[in-house]
This record gives sequence, C-alpha cells and structure tokens, in this order.
Amino acid sequence: MTAADPGRGVRLAVAAAALFIAAPSLAVAGPVAWLQDYLSIDTSNPSAGELPAARYLASLIERHDSGGEIDVRILVSPNGRANLYARLPANAVAATGRSLVLLHHLDVVPAGEGWKHPPFGGELHRGRIWGRGALDAKSLGIAHLNAMFHVLESGLPRRRDLILVASAGEEAGGGDGVGWLLEEHGELFADVEAVLNEAGVNRMAGDRLLWWGIETAQKQVLWLRVSAAGRAGHGAGFNPASPTHRLLRALNRVLDLEHDWRVTAASHQAYRALAGFRTGEFADVFDQPMEEVQAELERRLRDGRLDGVLLPGMSASFRDTVQITRIDNGAGPVNVAPGEASALIDARLLPDTDAGGFRRRVETMLGSGIHVEELLRSGGSPVSSTGSDVYRTLERLLGVRAPVVPTMIAGATDSRFFRRLGVDAYGFSPFTLSVDDAGGVHGVDERIPASGFLRGCRMMTRVAAALVLVEGDPAPAAAAGAGRGAP
Ligand SMILES: [Zn+2]
Repeated sequence: MTAADPGRGVRLAVAAAALFIAAPSLAVAGPVAWLQDYLSIDTSNPSAGELPAARYLASLIERHDSGGEIDVRILVSPNGRANLYARLPANAVAATGRSLVLLHHLDVVPAGEGWKHPPFGGELHRGRIWGRGALDAKSLGIAHLNAMFHVLESGLPRRRDLILVASAGEEAGGGDGVGWLLEEHGELFADVEAVLNEAGVNRMAGDRLLWWGIETAQKQVLWLRVSAAGRAGHGAGFNPASPTHRLLRALNRVLDLEHDWRVTAASHQAYRALAGFRTGEFADVFDQPMEEVQAELERRLRDGRLDGVLLPGMSASFRDTVQITRIDNGAGPVNVAPGEASALIDARLLPDTDAGGFRRRVETMLGSGIHVEELLRSGGSPVSSTGSDVYRTLERLLGVRAPVVPTMIAGATDSRFFRRLGVDAYGFSPFTLSVDDAGGVHGVDERIPASGFLRGCRMMTRVAAALVLVEGDPAPAAAAGAGRGAP
C-alpha cells in the first residue's frame, strides 16, 4: 500500500491512460490511486480487519497535513475493530463552534464468487475501478478525504470544524463503529451540527439525473431466526407435528399478519417534496397535509385504486414488511424427517413502529414451541430536518443541476445513531452513476467509472468547501484537484 508497491506504478499508468491525464501529474497520486489502494485492503465482514484500512487513510492524511493541523486518531473497540477519526479545527474569527462530520464505513460485505476482476485487486479496466466497496462505501470515503485536503490546502479560513469518520462494522449493525464511538467517545462528537453519510439516492434515467435524493429518514431493521425442534423420524411415518411441519404452519400465520398502511412524517416529507415537481394524480394525492394523504390512501386501498398512484418500490414506505428469506431443515434425503427446522425473517418497520410490540405480535402468531432469536434490531430514529443550514446548502449547490428531494430508505445506516441524539444526518452521494454502473452494491462486479468517481469527488469538495470555508465554495478549477492527479 505504499508508494514503493511495485504494482502501484502500473495501476497509475493505466488510470492515466484511461483518463487522458497529462504525464507530469502522475508524480503525485490522486483520488483514483487512493481508491485503488483502499479497495485492495480486504475489510470484509464478519472478521473485517479494519485496522490496515484505517492506518492507510491515516497515512494519507499525515502526508497531506504537513502543518499538523488535523487531529488523527484510530479508536479500537473492545472487539478489536478499528475506527478512524480525524478532526480539522475551524480557524476563522467568526467560527460557529459547531462541527460537520463526513462519515463512511471501512468494512464491506463479503465478495462472494464469480467476479470478472478480483474483488480486492483495486484494478482499473476500461475506465472503471473494480472492487468490493467501489460503491459501498469506499469511494465515498475517498471523496470525503479528498474534500478535507482541499479545505485544508485552500488556505481560506474555516468556520466549522470538519471531522472525517471511517467507521467499523457498519454492515454488521454498527455496534463496533458509530454506535460504540458515540457511547464511549461522545466527547469527540459533542459539538456536531450535522453529518453527511452514505445512502443518498440519486435517481437517474439512463445518464440523465432526474433528482438528487438526500436521505433524511430510514426504516428499522428487525432480523429474527425462528426454529422448531422435536421428533425426527422416517419419511414414511405418521408425524404431522414434525419440526418442519410446525415451522411451516407457524410461518404461514406470520405471513397472514395484516400490516396497516400508515403515512409517517418520513414518507410524507419525502413524497410531498417529490410531488412538488410532478403533475397529475401523484401530485394531487401527495401534495397535501399528512392526514389528507393518509385518508386518501385509505380510500384508494378500499376501492382498489392504490396501485395507480404509487411509483415502483413505494409501497414499503407506508407499511411494515416481513420477508422470509431462508428456510433450512438440513440436507437430508427425501425419506428422513429431520429433528430441527429454522427460518430467517427480515422485517423492515416504519420509523415510528414499536419494534418490541412488533416482535411480540410475530411471536404470538408463531405460537408456542417455536423458538425466536433476535439477530438485529436497529431501533427507530427521527427524521432529519430539511430546513437546516446544511440541507439548504445542499439544495443550493446541487439544485443547479437537478431538483433536491428528501428520501426515506428501507435499510439502516450509521446515520440513525446520530439522529437519535438529535443531530441531523443526511445520506448524500456526490456520485451520479448510470443505473448499470450503480448495480453492484452487495452483488458481484461492484465497480465505479473513474470519470464519474472524480466528478463526484469534485462535487463533494464543493459541498464541504461551502459548508466549512468562510469564502464559500471555491471555483471549480480549484476544486478539481490540480497537482493531485485529478483531471
Ligand atoms: Zn454501506
């Protein structure tokens, strides 16, 4: 991972050829090479091993921070998971006394088999950087880091502290990362005004950006493992109460559970904003106060006219959902009734659903004799404000290209830990990638086009500069990374 790495020169040369970078700028590595290096450090969960990745990012900071202005720490949780924390203090006369956090996670989900190029090679092919984490979320981390360097090197006074956090274990629930950091090192975050994190959802039509989606709310995750045990026997025997049979009947009852349609503050905020620049039925329904939307959805549900007004994927925004994602009763032959059967349930709850109450409902439906184990409960979190200075700055900068709308996601991110403390957290992606390129998250062949990545780095720099520097955002030329290999 050092400059002496023999593979590095080759990769840089490939990057330069693909991007038509003039040869002299190769003397100094830039975001593409940093991302390649970062991707070649395997940080897969569950073992993760974030420490080398945290050290790598720390080494980049130390290389850029010749004046020693950035406070860099690697904080290791009791389970041995490393987090990086780097704070660049404000130095303006009129500093706000508040800080902005740029957050991403160091860990990635396992790569699995079947990749066209090695998932931990950090290779560049046909202008695309390949590797697990190229989208989720190492590219975002490098964009954050690059933005911090520009803010530092601009020489302009800073009115907010800028904190970069690279967290551990996000893909496993964040208990060793942001959850632990806020619990054990709360003093490092006491002055945080807002957080920019992953999960921005920018809607594309081909290569065209329809809108920037800033994630302001998320559903809750509740993962359960349910199991039944009992008498095993021959497949020819009479055993209607075999563990497999009991489990299937119990799961059927869970599938029959009714889940109310409910308009929450989160979904109302998101779809009302979207209605603002649409016309027709969608706008008629969603550009109304919350109670009106609720009443209208109920009317349409009764009359069977609901589908006409929902965009694809929208239903989950208005109800708790249950998916049975795995059923397992061993790998025995057809004529053996096994003594144990289990299933995994992935429930996604609206932000204000009582997760404990929901679990009790599921348990009641499962009935006695079914064991329930809770694998993950993310917990609820409030909606972040669209009236804050940070959100309005995003609207102003991004809105030049496309409308900015708040969104709610079905998954959970580290943002929820900050929101619970009353801190606004926004999922913001500076990248606007075609649907095809954005498809590798948690799948095979995750990759990011180098040109789109660098464009995103410049956007992230503009956002950070506007939020931190007294002079506001610098000219695009300054943000482009002159002298660091960016075109
Ligand atoms: Zn992620």
